[in-house]
Amino acid sequence: MTYLPVGVAFAVVVAIGLIVGSFLNVCIYRIPRKQSIVWPASRCAACERPLAWFENLPILSYAALRGRCRTCGTGISIRYPIVELVTGAAFAFDFLAFGPTPLFLVRALFACAMIVLFAIDLEHQLLPNVITLPGIAFGFLASLLLPPGPVMSLAGIAAGGGLLWLIIEVWLRLRGVEAMGFGDVKMLAMIGAFLGLKLTILTFILSSLMGGVIGVILIATRRGGMGTALPYGTMLAMAAFIASVAGERLIDWYVHLYL
Ligand SMILES: [Zn+2]
Repeated sequence: MTYLPVGVAFAVVVAIGLIVGSFLNVCIYRIPRKQSIVWPASRCAACERPLAWFENLPILSYAALRGRCRTCGTGISIRYPIVELVTGAAFAFDFLAFGPTPLFLVRALFACAMIVLFAIDLEHQLLPNVITLPGIAFGFLASLLLPPGPVMSLAGIAAGGGLLWLIIEVWLRLRGVEAMGFGDVKMLAMIGAFLGLKLTILTFILSSLMGGVIGVILIATRRGGMGTALPYGTMLAMAAFIASVAGERLIDWYVHLYL
């Protein structure tokens, strides 16, 4: 194969990622507000004027409008272009890892779910059931045909959900507070369904490390104490994406350090 078709395929994948990212912005805004994600068409969040097609282009519209609504002049959140760029990048990493395969489609869909959960948890401290519960079912169904296979998928659901449930119970007995919400339990069960047992354990370890590092940075820069760290779902989302595209290589690398 020559380089040109690979380059073209890559560009198409990134472009699709940017467009999908634009739809993820709709999900991020509407799901916590219990609005339909398919109707009505996109509109300005401030003046509610429906957007023209040229105001709906990923990245380009935000740049052309300089981040303001054409009618009411209200600032458009920087979250919109960021989510579009992150989705384009996530599709690129998934395509690098899996190439043009069915597993690429499943993992790209998984990345979309992680991006939406990250953004909603960051803003609302909420991990909606309408994403996590169907996510558990879909991850398991996909595993009937694709990695990690149905046995490892079920083990991932049990370990991911069970581990966080146990932490909540133990913390509640010892300290009398909830260490995290049950949204986190369902989210790690969903991650288990898609990625299987091994990568779910890796996700848990990576998310704990991130939580520690980010907590230390926040305290060191005096931006807040222990209580103001990022919600745990945002850490799970980042860790699960890393595990989904590079988990096997990370585990190999780590094992070789000690063998
Ligand atoms: Zn407006």
